[in-house]
Amino acid sequence: MSHAYLFSGARHVGKMAMAKRVAAALLCEKKETGKEILFSCGTCRACIMTKAGTHPDMVVIDAERSGETMLRLEDIQQVRERAALSAYGGTRVFIIRDVSRMTREAANAFLKVLEEPRGQTVFLLLARVADDVLSTIRSRVWHIRFWPMSEEVLIAGLEKEYHVSSEQAADVARLAGGLPGMAMRLVGSPDEQKLLEKERAYIRALFTASIAERMKYAEKLRENPEGMQNWFVESIAMLADTVHISLRNTNLRVVAAADACRLLMEREEQFLKPYGVKRIIFEDALIGM
Ligand SMILES: [Zn+2]
Repeated sequence: MSHAYLFSGARHVGKMAMAKRVAAALLCEKKETGKEILFSCGTCRACIMTKAGTHPDMVVIDAERSGETMLRLEDIQQVRERAALSAYGGTRVFIIRDVSRMTREAANAFLKVLEEPRGQTVFLLLARVADDVLSTIRSRVWHIRFWPMSEEVLIAGLEKEYHVSSEQAADVARLAGGLPGMAMRLVGSPDEQKLLEKERAYIRALFTASIAERMKYAEKLRENPEGMQNWFVESIAMLADTVHISLRNTNLRVVAAADACRLLMEREEQFLKPYGVKRIIFEDALIGM
């Protein structure tokens, strides 16, 4: 059996970045013990090649990049052939993006690949939703779920890894909505940041736009399914944000109400004592509410 992992989570949550980091760590020529688990030196021949995407033992299968919507049998045959031989006699790492989108033939072929005994072969399978991956594949892999990060963690990470100012990091983290993959894309590209800001503002404005304006937007996206999907993603994120904010507010209100209640109960206790001046306690409580 090969080692196979399924990384699942939202688009831009950092699955591919993590997969490449794992690959770099596995292929790095300077194995040092006692270092962090995902250590790669970054300077050896293997590291330079994995970074450039040219390491012959790191194979990335990405249907979307080759203009296809599904992973096809040819893709899996390519995996099978390359898994059979290692360029440097060591570990081979296969990163397969959108593993939930396989034709039936490809899936059947891939199951066989997973079951064939091999040397040091590691499969890193990426999917947005684990449930969309065939259960026969899922049952043969370790599943690791990726969640968006809190803004604070993302800011700290950006400051550490990219040496940006805390304001820049905060801007990027806010725009990226907790998605480190997105943050990594945005951090080096002010143009992309501006574009995203503009797009967000536009989508936000749609919430209160007239039907005619919405129809115009729909017309604009007619031939652009990616744009439509993006609208869903952005709109849902905006609504979720609103819910979170109001929940937080409500919680504050709940806390305030609980505080007021406790205070009032204390006052009632004083009020019920035989020696207090009832009117003063009552008025005090009433006015202080
Ligand atoms: Zn290295």
